[in-house]
Amino acid sequence: MAQADIALIGLAVMGQNLILNMNDHGFVVCAFNRTVSKVHDFLNNEAKGTKVIGAESLEDMVSKLKKPRRIILLVKAGQAVDDFIDKLVPLLEPGDIIIDGGNSEYRDTTRRCKSLKEKQLLFVGSGVSGGEEGARYGPSLMPGGHKDAWPHIKEIFQSIAAKVGKEPCCDWVGDEGAGHFVKMVHNGIEYGDMQLICEAYHLMKDVLCMDHDEMAQAFEQWNKTELDSFLIEITANILKYKDEDGTHLLPKIRDSAGQKGTGKWTAISALEYGTPVTLIGEAVFARCLSSLKDERVQASKSLAGPQGVKFTGNKAQFLEDIKKALYASKIISYAQGFMLLRQAAVEFGWSLNYGAIALMWRGGCIIRSVFLGKIKEAFDRNAELQSLLLDNFFSKAVQDCQESWRRVVSTGVQQGIPMPCFTTALSFYDGYRHEMLPANLLQAQRDYFGAHTYELLSNPGKFIHTNWTGHG
Ligand code: NAP
Repeated sequence: MAQADIALIGLAVMGQNLILNMNDHGFVVCAFNRTVSKVHDFLNNEAKGTKVIGAESLEDMVSKLKKPRRIILLVKAGQAVDDFIDKLVPLLEPGDIIIDGGNSEYRDTTRRCKSLKEKQLLFVGSGVSGGEEGARYGPSLMPGGHKDAWPHIKEIFQSIAAKVGKEPCCDWVGDEGAGHFVKMVHNGIEYGDMQLICEAYHLMKDVLCMDHDEMAQAFEQWNKTELDSFLIEITANILKYKDEDGTHLLPKIRDSAGQKGTGKWTAISALEYGTPVTLIGEAVFARCLSSLKDERVQASKSLAGPQGVKFTGNKAQFLEDIKKALYASKIISYAQGFMLLRQAAVEFGWSLNYGAIALMWRGGCIIRSVFLGKIKEAFDRNAELQSLLLDNFFSKAVQDCQESWRRVVSTGVQQGIPMPCFTTALSFYDGYRHEMLPANLLQAQRDYFGAHTYELLSNPGKFIHTNWTGHG
């Protein structure tokens, strides 16, 4: 009997939590998993006493669904998604909806969307952020794909999503792979935010020689300001955390960072579409450099840094400078992230609602912050905003931070502290605000050795070549 509002395939941590979340909001969910024994385990344990029902096979699952059928896949990204789609297609009818909530690559989502459209099925690729906790109690959801599906899934999606006030952190993102593209950029921004906090920590620790409790206090204090965010909050908690032996855990953790790839995908997209998303790129490379631990241990024995440079300034003032450098760099990172979204919209003909995207990230996900509310307001003021840096609020914020930011970068450089994201953010800012860059010389060089031609400032659009050596 058709009794379930929606089905979910994939009973690992994300799937189980999302099912329980939907159940809490009054929806009847039919659960299925490749390894069917996990369906029984789930019904007898985590889902015991709920309205969740199980299925023994895909045929059984499909027969239990109200029409149009709505099926969420939360399985390992890649081949598993295609395999399930291939098995589902013969069982479905025109107008039925398949939603992929995994971390799929946006091009795969576009391909699946197009191929299912030919079969009159509606495909949605939805970014889901917030980890297990988010999935259980309110994730940030970024659905995109075949828009005809949206009216059929909107109520479920918006009721289970995180809320900021009454506003759900979920809205329709755009066509084809737009939802997964936005999720990918979200993850890239997450890489940037984390690296910026790490650089602030490094400066506090090695320039200001602050102890863990002092640093925790500073982050707690910052969390009451414009930097109020999940990542600043957990950083304060991490700094405070003591091991069973009563000493701080953080300095004992091996400084070699892992990654799952979505930050890298963002940087690759930035290169592909020619958008200067330098901060996320540096954040990815910072993880790569950190992972060369053995090589760094060796290098630390032979490569010298600046000798005998000690910080002699006002410590409280410099701590405030670090905070401002972090804030300004964060503004640059989000400005770059939104530039990439804008470029993708042009490339793929997507119509993206940037304010709605900021609101989707405002709660539920790892980058959630008060700051995203300010971004939403900027796009509310001007939906066509070319760059966040051209919004009055953000240009003034960067202006207010500028002196501090420059002090931090120059002090850090003099003291030999690596700050790839602080420095690239400042270089981007300086590049972006320069009417004239030295690319005139670059064009001349290209023309000199390769006859690549150049334009004159006085005559843009007309490409000319000079015989630089005077030889025929
Ligand atoms: P996962 O470990 O990525 O995937 C496990 C699930 O995929 C199981 O249901 C497994 O079925 C199924 N599966 C794996 N290979 C399969 C195959 N070849 N064919 C069919 N099914 C297969 O689970 P997860 O961590 O819950 O994540 C689910 C999705 O959400 C992933 O795309 C992940 O990237 C994304 N995501 C995860 C998080 C997170 O914090 N974990 C956050 C956001 C998004 P069996 O039980 O039969 O092995």
